[in-house]
Amino acid sequence: MLGVASKAFFQTLSHSRTLKTLASRYGMSGPRTFARRFIAGERVEDAIAAVRGIEAQGLLHTLDYLGESVASLAAAQAATREYLALIEEVDRAGVERNLSIKLTQLGLDVDRAICVDNLRKILAAGERCGFFVRIDMESSAYTQATLDILDTVWRHGSRNVGVVLQSCLHRTEQDFDRINALGARIRLVKGAYREPTAVAYQQKSDVDAAYVRLARRLLTEGHYPAIATHDERILDAVKRFAAEQHIPPDRYEFQMLYGIRRDLQSALRDEGFRMRVYVPFGREWFPYFMRRLGERPANVGFVLRALVAER
Ligand SMILES: Cc1cc2nc3c(=O)[nH]c(=O)nc-3n(C[C@H](O)[C@H](O)[C@H](O)COP(=O)(O)OP(=O)(O)OC[C@H]3O[C@@H](n4cnc5c(N)ncnc54)[C@H](O)[C@@H]3O)c2cc1C
Repeated sequence: MLGVASKAFFQTLSHSRTLKTLASRYGMSGPRTFARRFIAGERVEDAIAAVRGIEAQGLLHTLDYLGESVASLAAAQAATREYLALIEEVDRAGVERNLSIKLTQLGLDVDRAICVDNLRKILAAGERCGFFVRIDMESSAYTQATLDILDTVWRHGSRNVGVVLQSCLHRTEQDFDRINALGARIRLVKGAYREPTAVAYQQKSDVDAAYVRLARRLLTEGHYPAIATHDERILDAVKRFAAEQHIPPDRYEFQMLYGIRRDLQSALRDEGFRMRVYVPFGREWFPYFMRRLGERPANVGFVLRALVAER
């Protein structure tokens, strides 16, 4: 299947040092260079400027300070300090307080206890200033650990935290039951990682059908769920279902990625729905960028055209 092959291809490329060096040199060098389409910039100031623009359009946002798979304690501590500084900057800027983070950025691969400790520091600082923190879901190698860590911080009293579930995984129905029973907020996505047959649906039609099934359950049983997709057919199905069930639009929100289907983002806003834009920024943008290319190989054409235009 093209989707699976393309995800696999771009996931492999995302480990290429040469490509990373080249992309890092050109991708973000100017305000209109190719990576800017999907990433707000490398600095906090860029991110704050982007979210001000998003707020001015009547949209909500969540900020992701890019980074993942850190391999040392020092890098995990540095990322935690960056998030703590970001909380202060956002607080000072007076923009909406909503963050998305990845546990491998906080040291999950290095030392799980320290990762939990780092997360708790971020949640505590965030709670003092009214932040909601979403734990992104990474590949299936991390699903169990991510949900266990959410469970741990929840049982320690954190309530300003939620998680992401992926409709591509066979296990997600069960994970839904567990997380929903806690009372935590769930963001539903299809899943951005190449996954083996043993754990994940390989056909897009199966992933989409599971998405609709889970979205329906979220709308009726969930706690302010986030329906995160750019798929128009699914969006229509969700809107229809919510209307049939008389679920008011303030009981859930839609979410999309920065730079993707901006037409749909404003259309949903105009229809009176809550629409949150996921805004990534930071210097470690390469793996995120490659996942966006893998989802839609036509994006490669966009990058090439931008490169030619920039010459
Ligand atoms: C807010 C948000 C948070 C996310 N968080 C996570 C997470 O924590 N973990 C995780 O695994 N995944 C995450 N994802 C990514 C998600 O899993 C999918 O990979 C991604 O959303 C593409 O799937 P889709 O639902 O849009 O459907 P698709 O069937 O892939 O796409 C539907 C349509 O959307 C448009 N589209 C989709 N992707 C692109 C693109 N890259 N460029 C241009 N157009 C595109 C195209 O028009 C396409 O036809 C997140 C997505 C969103 C919106």
